[in-house]
Amino acid sequence: MDLAIAGRKALVCGASAGLGYACAQALAQEGVNLVIVARTPGPLEEAAQRLRQAGTGTVAFVVADVASPEGRARILAGHTDLDILVTNAGGPPPGDFRHWQREDWLAALDANMLAPIELIRATVDGMMDRGFGRIVNITSSAVKSPLEQLGLSNGARAGLTGFVAGLARSVAARGVTINNLLPGTFDTARLAGNFAAQAQREGRTPEEVRQARVAKHPARRLGQPEELGKTCAFLCSVHAGYINGQNLLLDGGSFPGVF
Ligand code: NAP
Repeated sequence: MDLAIAGRKALVCGASAGLGYACAQALAQEGVNLVIVARTPGPLEEAAQRLRQAGTGTVAFVVADVASPEGRARILAGHTDLDILVTNAGGPPPGDFRHWQREDWLAALDANMLAPIELIRATVDGMMDRGFGRIVNITSSAVKSPLEQLGLSNGARAGLTGFVAGLARSVAARGVTINNLLPGTFDTARLAGNFAAQAQREGRTPEEVRQARVAKHPARRLGQPEELGKTCAFLCSVHAGYINGQNLLLDGGSFPGVF
């Protein structure tokens, strides 16, 4: 299927690795011109080089922290005329809410709620003026099925989800859609870190934790980042123009409910 977005311009945040990289790769394969963002220069530059091989479009990169106003200003300085925005940042650390201070909550809100909202604020009106826009926020299955240890993530992402639900309806008539992707367990460095933390808490090895998780999963495997990337590219396509304001769970069927 031709997604009909070749030549469009996309900003993909948190894109040197993991799910963000997979989204950038899938868009590159569709001929989209990319601006990718992460905080660490070396891996980001290497990712940009790989993405140039993956597609026919251009690939620029900006070293920046999307959670900071300075970082966002640097990203947006040369790139406000976007057709596609994929928001993403690292998730907050796991832990016990009794230990979290106000600063911990503010850091989670900055990265996982306010950064996407600020990036949307800077770009959505231009998309509406030009009559086309696709915004995809990478959030978490925790929005639908919260995990106690990930309270910072549960709270911050729920705030973003509520905000987006309201905004999405007001932009649709001008050719813009806003949707959220909710990953379950995808095989990335972030997930390996979560397994390692759990292993330490429970006195097991990370591999034992991983195997136990896979054994309980209905698909008996972890998700591959490319699967989420391709879904993201479809949501950004012309064909997905009537999908708006949705929270799409990509968890291989883990969530046990009907809806
Ligand atoms: P990952 O493998 O750790 O990759 C994160 C990417 O984002 C890296 O490129 C990282 O590069 C960049 N990044 C992190 N913080 C950033 C910031 N503040 N500004 C700019 N770039 C930033 O993580 P992932 O597994 O792809 O997860 C992506 C998001 O999905 C996270 O919020 C995670 O919590 C969420 N999620 C993941 C899963 C899963 O199974 N993997 C499940 C549920 C939710 P730098 O560190 O160099 O900046």
